[in-house]
Order: sequence, then C-alpha cells, then structure tokens
Amino acid sequence: MITLISDVDGTLLGDPAALNELNEYIAGHRDYFHLIYATGRDVTEMNRGIFTEGLIMPDAAILSTGSEIYTVESGAFLPDVQWESIISASWDKNKVEEAAKQVQGLMTQGKSEKLKVSYFIDPSAAEQIRCRFRKLFKEQGIKAKIIISHEKYLDIIPENCDKGKAAEFLIKKLDMSSDSSVVAGDSENDTDLFESFYHGIVVGNARHGLRLSTQNRDFYMAGTDYAAGVLEGLKYYMQRLK
Ligand SMILES: [Mg+2]
Repeated sequence: MITLISDVDGTLLGDPAALNELNEYIAGHRDYFHLIYATGRDVTEMNRGIFTEGLIMPDAAILSTGSEIYTVESGAFLPDVQWESIISASWDKNKVEEAAKQVQGLMTQGKSEKLKVSYFIDPSAAEQIRCRFRKLFKEQGIKAKIIISHEKYLDIIPENCDKGKAAEFLIKKLDMSSDSSVVAGDSENDTDLFESFYHGIVVGNARHGLRLSTQNRDFYMAGTDYAAGVLEGLKYYMQRLK
C-alpha cells in the first residue's frame, strides 16, 4: 500500500495526456494506493480541478497550503475540524492583515480564507518582503508562517501548519504509515512536504528552489515533467517499497 501525497499545479497539472496515463495507472491499482492532494488551492478550486481539469477524486486533500484538511466521503469534501482547531489556536488574521499594510509591494489576490492570507508580490522584491514581514511579526508577537512560491505568490498561514505538518497529521489520523508515503512536488511551497517525509518525487520541471532544498537527499528525481514524472517515480517506489 502506497500513499501518494501530491501537489497539484505544476506537478499533476501541466500535461493532460500524462495526467490521463497516471490516472489510469492509479485506477488500475486503486486498492494499492491512497491518493492525497496537497495544494495551495481552496475547496472551490479543488472541485474545479476534479470537474474540469482531469483530476480524479482523491481520498483526502490538504488545501490552502496546509491550513485546511478535507477527507472525502461519498464523493464530497468534508473539513477536518480537529485540524482547524489545532492550527487556529495561535492565529490572528486581523493582526496579519494590519501588519501587511506596513509592507510595500503587495497586491491582494482578492480571495478571503479563514486561515490563509495571500498576496501577489513583485519577484524582484520577494526576499525584502519576507524580511520585512519577519521583522514585523517579531515586533508585534504575531505567530505566522510566510511561504513564497514562484517568487510571486506570498501566503501567510498559521505558524504551526504547512503542507508537511498537515500531511503528517492526516497520515496519523487515517492510520496510514509514513514509511509507505510518497510525496510529489514541483516548487518551493512543496519543500515542507519533502521535509516531513523521506520518500518523494521531484518532477522533471521542478523549480530551482525545490531542487536546492531536496538535493543530497534520497528522493527520486524524475527525468520527465508533470504527471509523467509522478508516474515514473511511483513505479520506482512500487518496486522499492514492495
Ligand atoms: Mg506546484
């Protein structure tokens, strides 16, 4: 039994034909796989992925960069309230938004999530913005985590949550083992997944930031891109974890 915990955009999505092939492979071994998506998407965007972008229904989903967990029952996503109560204990969204007003170079993404604040940022100012937030959070006693991906997306989420921690919680809750879990990703916001697990697939199109943080560790570096890379890695782990 393998639990595949995969990022969506840039990992599963990017090559529709390859995604079809991966889906068929998973469907053909459905009793052998648990499928979990781990993405920055919210539940509406996740549903769109399933209904219009070719994703198959997973067993569970880690959404909004780890700030939400959903399990799937009878084809519907049900929020995990236990996770919400764990991570919301130290979270004060108003304080985060107030601090953000003192940071230059942010543009709102125009969506409101309870446990995540997101902005578009100017790529050339990414590190400056990260430092400014860190300083403000320290000064104001704000407990929050800053995640920048593709140098242009900035997410601020509760301190004690990210894709990796959410996946660890979920694996435990579903009584699955991390020894047989395989993560997959393409960018910096997947780094936490690779830090929480020791089996992982870095797809061929992965960004430099993820390559840097996963180098010198025992992960599968796929030669092919997007879902083809995931399938390549999955076949490798099928053999290895037998
Ligand atoms: Mg991605």
